[in-house]
Amino acid sequence: MTPIESVVIVGGGTAGWMAAAAAARFLDDGHRRITLVESDAIGTVGVGEATIPPILGFNRLLGIDEAEFVRETGATFKLGIEFVDWGGRGERYFHPFGEHGRDFQGVAFHQYWLKHRHAARIGVLSDYAMAGVAAAAGRFAPPATDPRAPLSQLAYAYHFDAGLYAAFLRRRAEAQGVVRIEGRISGVETDAQTGFVGAVVLEDGRRVAGDLFIDCSGFRSLLLGETLGVGYRDWSHWLPCDRAVAVPAARAAPLPPFTRATAQAAGWQWRIPLQHRTGNGLVYASAHLSDDAAEDALVAGVDAPLAAPRRLSFTAGVRERLWDRNVVALGLAGGFIEPLESTSIHLIQTGISKLFWLFPDKGFSAVERDTYNRLMTEQFEYVRDFIVLHYKATRRDDTPFWRYVRNMAIPDSLAHKIALFREKGRVMRFDHDLFAVPSWVAVMLGQGIAPQGYDPLVDAMDDARICAAMAEMRAGYAAQALRMPLHADYVAAHCPMPGVSGG
Ligand SMILES: Cc1cc2nc3c(=O)[nH]c(=O)nc-3n(C[C@H](O)[C@H](O)[C@H](O)COP(=O)(O)OP(=O)(O)OC[C@H]3O[C@@H](n4cnc5c(N)ncnc54)[C@H](O)[C@@H]3O)c2cc1C
Repeated sequence: MTPIESVVIVGGGTAGWMAAAAAARFLDDGHRRITLVESDAIGTVGVGEATIPPILGFNRLLGIDEAEFVRETGATFKLGIEFVDWGGRGERYFHPFGEHGRDFQGVAFHQYWLKHRHAARIGVLSDYAMAGVAAAAGRFAPPATDPRAPLSQLAYAYHFDAGLYAAFLRRRAEAQGVVRIEGRISGVETDAQTGFVGAVVLEDGRRVAGDLFIDCSGFRSLLLGETLGVGYRDWSHWLPCDRAVAVPAARAAPLPPFTRATAQAAGWQWRIPLQHRTGNGLVYASAHLSDDAAEDALVAGVDAPLAAPRRLSFTAGVRERLWDRNVVALGLAGGFIEPLESTSIHLIQTGISKLFWLFPDKGFSAVERDTYNRLMTEQFEYVRDFIVLHYKATRRDDTPFWRYVRNMAIPDSLAHKIALFREKGRVMRFDHDLFAVPSWVAVMLGQGIAPQGYDPLVDAMDDARICAAMAEMRAGYAAQALRMPLHADYVAAHCPMPGVSGG
């Protein structure tokens, strides 16, 4: 077994610097060289600012101090996503992080809610999610450690400035020995027999050789796609949005602790609150909306834009293999699913942890590579199904775009999930499925899928006792939320971005 001595990361966006920071922490044994090549002239995609709770685990593994991270990236806290106009126009629902209520006797809480949902004073399901209740009140506090406290059920993630996040990780990675090379790659050397990548060549003739290459070159997929010719599975028949336009605006006041996703005529609009600005963007299908009309619609609905709108185009899907020969692709170089549930950065994190788990030697074993590809492809498919659900389960038919998505054929895996949920509200969750049962339940119900029944085990519990317990739980979440500081006050007290003030 000959160990890998040199790792070359191509690209310095979120994917590249996440990989570099993790490699510096876990691969640097004093013998291995870790090099990152990026081109300031090409730049990064410049978007990607909302995350999901597992990012906390990534930061923790890297030994990142939360307050420092939040200050330096202009971050805010995120308790979930508010969906506006998705199931039908005029409707809204909240997908909270964390759990809904407490299970009784091994049966999921939402089953009890399903049985009693029409009773007086039961409320909506997110009234039983600590994150949902706190978000509605605009409040934030970190989870409690006492498992009996309602606050222990709160889960959260961050919104952060993508450019500042990459810069933050870069400082850490460089301090830990990663060598950054500035320059545009104009050629790639491969072995004539094996096809393995041997080196990347910069415009000025410099050569950067390595054993393992991590392709973080963005949508271009310089090594995996362009050089090794690994094909792309196109999922645009299920996810027809293929464009986005983004524009930053002034900081929102009050500062919401959640992302908002508002359905529009041919796509949807995001609002991501940061400490120093608000990120806004419209994701849309070019078959149904022109780029100029999209930009006009976005800018018209945004107060005080801070910069010119930025246009992006993409195709939903994933590479046929994410690891081929000695190249592993992370981030946009490997695939892209629109950011409706903020999953791309998470997929980078997953790719990094699986790569380190299966870290190769110079022999590049086929079984390790195939295992990686199988696990990562599954991850992309789970995310795909969850996002497609938001489109398929709509009652909207007011535009050609919504008529297309509500009538389109969907993956069998998702069709089965929906059918099972319609029956008695059960969720079929695969072992590695990123989204847990509460997430599927929140979105299925939020989009208007009403189960015909509920789990019969619920009938074993006395109705009056259940309703009383539910009322107590709901009051507990509401009271707890009122004891939490306003999100803006929490940020100002614990982790304000230098030079930013606001309420
Ligand atoms: C509209 C939109 C919204 C998004 N929102 C979210 C979100 O809210 N949450 C989320 O998790 N994700 C989101 N994403 C995805 C997220 O932006 C990406 O996953 C993330 O930024 C990682 O990008 P990257 O590093 O793969 O690519 P990039 O940022 O494009 O970086 C590519 C790097 O490769 C370098 N490079 C390329 N070619 C060469 C060359 N020839 N020579 C040298 N260097 C080269 C570039 O200079 C750059 O440094 C969004 C994406 C889009 C398109």
